[in-house]
Amino acid sequence: MSARRAVVILDFDGTLAPIVASPQASALARPARATLARLAASPRARVAVVSGRALSDLQRRVGLAGLVYGGCHGLEVAGDGWRFRHPRARTRALAGARRALAAGAARLPGARVEWKGLAVALHYRRVPAARRPAVRALVRELERRLPGLAVIPGNRVYDFVPRVGWDKGMAARWIARRARAELGGPPAVLYAGDDTTDEAAFRRLRRSGVTIRVGGGPTAAEFALRSVADVHALLGWLARALG
Ligand SMILES: [Mg+2]
Repeated sequence: MSARRAVVILDFDGTLAPIVASPQASALARPARATLARLAASPRARVAVVSGRALSDLQRRVGLAGLVYGGCHGLEVAGDGWRFRHPRARTRALAGARRALAAGAARLPGARVEWKGLAVALHYRRVPAARRPAVRALVRELERRLPGLAVIPGNRVYDFVPRVGWDKGMAARWIARRARAELGGPPAVLYAGDDTTDEAAFRRLRRSGVTIRVGGGPTAAEFALRSVADVHALLGWLARALG
């Protein structure tokens, strides 16, 4: 790599860890963790993982001290001396959504509500197909009742977040700027993700960074990698190049 410094921003599910049937079972392979640790240890690299997961969940799953973590689609960022919480992200409307979702989920067998601190999620992977329209109706009703919240559809999940004009793209750009100051010069910025929520980052970074879509599908990213294994291989190459 010709650039002497790099900011590597990665999604977690479907990018660093394979998608599995239950999000609670999702895990980072041990060799990949070692590669990430090696890359993060380079004084010329800053590694960040940004996800829709709760910050603490993400930190626990990756389990490395030298990384920066962005939870709840980047509304909260922490790790290795970093601490950010979106100043306009309030939890009051979220608490209302949590109560309403819990009441709605009680009528939907298989639905699960997860409180993430700056987001509340409705997981519907285990809801039978025949009841999925009821899931969508519940989400639409809450969207109407709680205009202060935005709904982010994900992989068999709806995330309710404070409507503050923030997304993974804004978070990625914020991380890249701050890392630039830390690294003492302009870095190459690399962003890899597999989901529709990563498209915001592809659009924001397309001109200034290396954007990589993992898996198929239409994308704003400039490059594509086929699988999580390919991401791991790329990280290995980066760790060697910047180590
Ligand atoms: Mg993903």
